[in-house]
Amino acid sequence: MGLITLQDIFCRASPDYECTHALPAHVRRAARAIMQCRTAALGGHVHACPDGHVARVWYNSCRHRSCPQCASLQTERWLALQRARLLACDHYHVIFPLPHDLHPLWLANVPVMTTLLLQAVRDTLYDLLGDPKYLGAPPGIIAALHTWSQTLVLPPHVHGLVTGGGVPPAGQWVAVRHGLLLPVRVVMAVLRGKMLDAIRQAVARGALTLPKPMPPQQLDTLLHRLGHPTQTPWNVWSMECYRHGAGVVTYLARYLRGGPLKHARLVAFDGACVTLLSRARHEGTAGSQRMTLPVADRLQRWLLHVSVPQMRVVRYYGLYHHTHADTLAVCRTALGQPPVAAPVCLDWQALCAQRGEAHPERCPTCGQLLVCTGVIPRGGAPPPVLTGEIAA
Ligand SMILES: [Zn+2]
Ligand SMILES: [Zn+2]
Repeated sequence: MGLITLQDIFCRASPDYECTHALPAHVRRAARAIMQCRTAALGGHVHACPDGHVARVWYNSCRHRSCPQCASLQTERWLALQRARLLACDHYHVIFPLPHDLHPLWLANVPVMTTLLLQAVRDTLYDLLGDPKYLGAPPGIIAALHTWSQTLVLPPHVHGLVTGGGVPPAGQWVAVRHGLLLPVRVVMAVLRGKMLDAIRQAVARGALTLPKPMPPQQLDTLLHRLGHPTQTPWNVWSMECYRHGAGVVTYLARYLRGGPLKHARLVAFDGACVTLLSRARHEGTAGSQRMTLPVADRLQRWLLHVSVPQMRVVRYYGLYHHTHADTLAVCRTALGQPPVAAPVCLDWQALCAQRGEAHPERCPTCGQLLVCTGVIPRGGAPPPVLTGEIAA
């Protein structure tokens, strides 16, 4: 069975899909980027062995945030940067979903609602942890918006990685007590209040568009109902403690680039239907399941998650905000860590070496470094005669 890629699926199905569905410009751009990634359309260059053993074509990458072919290098760079900054203390992984009833409002206002949710999460954690009753010090927070699950159905939620300690004004490092970040019920109540307030204020200043059939009165009723915990639960999905933040950062990184569908999950595509593996999450149903959907449905689900340009889906607050480098340094000293060292900027060759793959720019016959022998312009045709493989 040949490897199926998202690019295959897009190249075969997306042109028809785009003819029959009105898509926003940034979504069309994403589809085009994925179809053209590492093809002659984007240009590239020829690398050859000085002794003529081999010549390879390297086509340029699209570098689109949603492209699975382009994800790994960017993800590894981001990870290296975060690992270098993480404090050596307990971290808590908190997940804040947006209640189901607010999904239509979110879909009609993705950038604004994303900002409101991230800010509500930040303010909730800040206010509560800043309270001497709990921690009494501002924490470090890395918050990331995720908009998909294994089945690509939309449940927008924020993952927060929160330090289990901090430094109070003019004080020493303090950690949360009894391995508990915050009481879940208190977090839910405060977040609910902040998010509903933020939505009401945004509506009042005309910053939110109501989803199509919803009159303003209906939104009022909905917000009123969401304010009553007994009528609509406002859950915090998880608040687990980890000895280090590195594992959670790795988990967050998987979502940041490469879009919602990784190639390893694609098992079959016959031109009409796509089958993919999804991990069964719940206990008792371990292993993976296969799910087959018509390709148009699959595309629709995928395209829903193309992020709006300039929307920042990861944010850093408190100790992890770049303006608080001094406080971060104080915390690192308190925890016995050296100052943050700038990580070496990872390149493609270093990444291959890290994974134990063959050096992509050495001749497999004589081991010499390949040299650039030609440039292929954008939209250009591949050079006519080449020996050796066409590199991916
Ligand atoms: Zn790409
Ligand atoms: Zn050679």
